[in-house]
Amino acid sequence: MSGPGGPLSFDELLMDGGCVEILREYPVPHVMLRHNKIAFINSAAVALFDGESAESLLEKEIMEFIHPLDQERALSRMRGLDKNKPRSVPTKIRINTLANRLKMIISSSAMVCIKGERVIVATGVDVTDIYAMDNELRESEESFQRLFENMHDVFYRTNDQQQIVLVGPGAKRLLGYSVNEVIGKPASYFYPRPEDRQAIIDAVKKFGEVKDFPGQLRHKRGHVLDVSISSRVIMGPNGEFLGMEGVFRDVTEEVNIKKELKRLASTDDLTGLLNRRSFLEKANHLVRSLQRYHEDCLVVILDIDCFKEINDTHGHLSGDRILKDVSFIVKGLLRESDIYGRLGGDEFSIILRRCPLQEGHEICSRIVREIKDTKISLVHQNTISLSVSLGVTPLVKDDNPFVLALARADRALYLAKTRGRGCFGVTPLDGDSYLPMHTDLADH
Ligand code: GH3
Ligand code: MG
Repeated sequence: MSGPGGPLSFDELLMDGGCVEILREYPVPHVMLRHNKIAFINSAAVALFDGESAESLLEKEIMEFIHPLDQERALSRMRGLDKNKPRSVPTKIRINTLANRLKMIISSSAMVCIKGERVIVATGVDVTDIYAMDNELRESEESFQRLFENMHDVFYRTNDQQQIVLVGPGAKRLLGYSVNEVIGKPASYFYPRPEDRQAIIDAVKKFGEVKDFPGQLRHKRGHVLDVSISSRVIMGPNGEFLGMEGVFRDVTEEVNIKKELKRLASTDDLTGLLNRRSFLEKANHLVRSLQRYHEDCLVVILDIDCFKEINDTHGHLSGDRILKDVSFIVKGLLRESDIYGRLGGDEFSIILRRCPLQEGHEICSRIVREIKDTKISLVHQNTISLSVSLGVTPLVKDDNPFVLALARADRALYLAKTRGRGCFGVTPLDGDSYLPMHTDLADH
């Protein structure tokens, strides 16, 4: 206690209404309730309820301000307060203010017994703005989650050890693995060739990101999928490598369609052999490679004898059948590495790879003989015998463009045609075309 005239002690300040004054201006909104009616309300709570004055709010039922959906909960919390549990834990409650605004408060209450009467002190902190922010955050998080779960692409993230730390549930759809089966595994585990993963890591580290990187992943059941991968590097604040993240997408169907379109564009419809354009493309490619690595190669032109007459006699459909059969029979006499195409009409060309001239003679004789010996079916059951003529020439690195060699082979073919057909001619690199001694000319 201080003496007369000196400063009052804090206890003295609280006396004679000082305590009430402090409560009234206390910055946290609070009310005191008797029988659920407002018996005291401080100015912060008046502002919270958008009231005009404390007096106008006295004796009002507190439930009038509480959102109907929260009333039952609020009541039971207040009823539950007793000597053993004098305070409730803070909770979120919605209130309707006098200005008809909905606010979210964090409320807690306490029960005090004053002179045998039960008084509830309730506080409420306005968190409407924070809650709205929270809500926005949650909504965007939910949208992200929905996107994450439903997007066509599969999102993934790895750590600096290239272990997968996050993956979208699309992994199940694409690869057959559940999220849990993927998490923690090294990314390379899913690659049919683990070194392909290294190629992506190198590219990402070098350029910071890669877009639509073509790759392959292995499905849980073992088959391989073509995928397109877009990834970026994750760097730490000091430029350290923390991992990678990105998306991958199944493009197997697209890749197959592209392959099929490419095949169709390079294939002769009728025979299934290379068409003229793609045969010449491959031939020119080979010539360029001969300029670096020598290889014995021969170019052969094959032409069906008197095909026009066969067509005229037996019809175009039978002619087509013959074209298919001849191309098939000849294919059976070639090696996988040989290049074989239809130049057009009844004319075919073959590049015999790693084949010296003498061996080429034998192959050409065999083709001539095989065609002569085969009875080819026509569309109306009957069969026909026919013959082919061939022209052969070596293919060398100077045959650039390839048609130079084709012209030589054509001269040899011309000789075979003029010397009775059903045989083959040869045009050497220097000198005139000739018919080899053992050619089947005599049979014709
Ligand atoms: P040669 O022994 O001198 O080669 O005589 P040829 O009758 O075979 O003469 P040529 O090679 O010039 O005739 C080719 C014929 O092939 C002419 C054309 O009517 C026919 N032809 C071209 N393309 C096709 C086709 O796709 N189907 C069919 N059925 N016939 C074709
Ligand atoms: Mg012909």
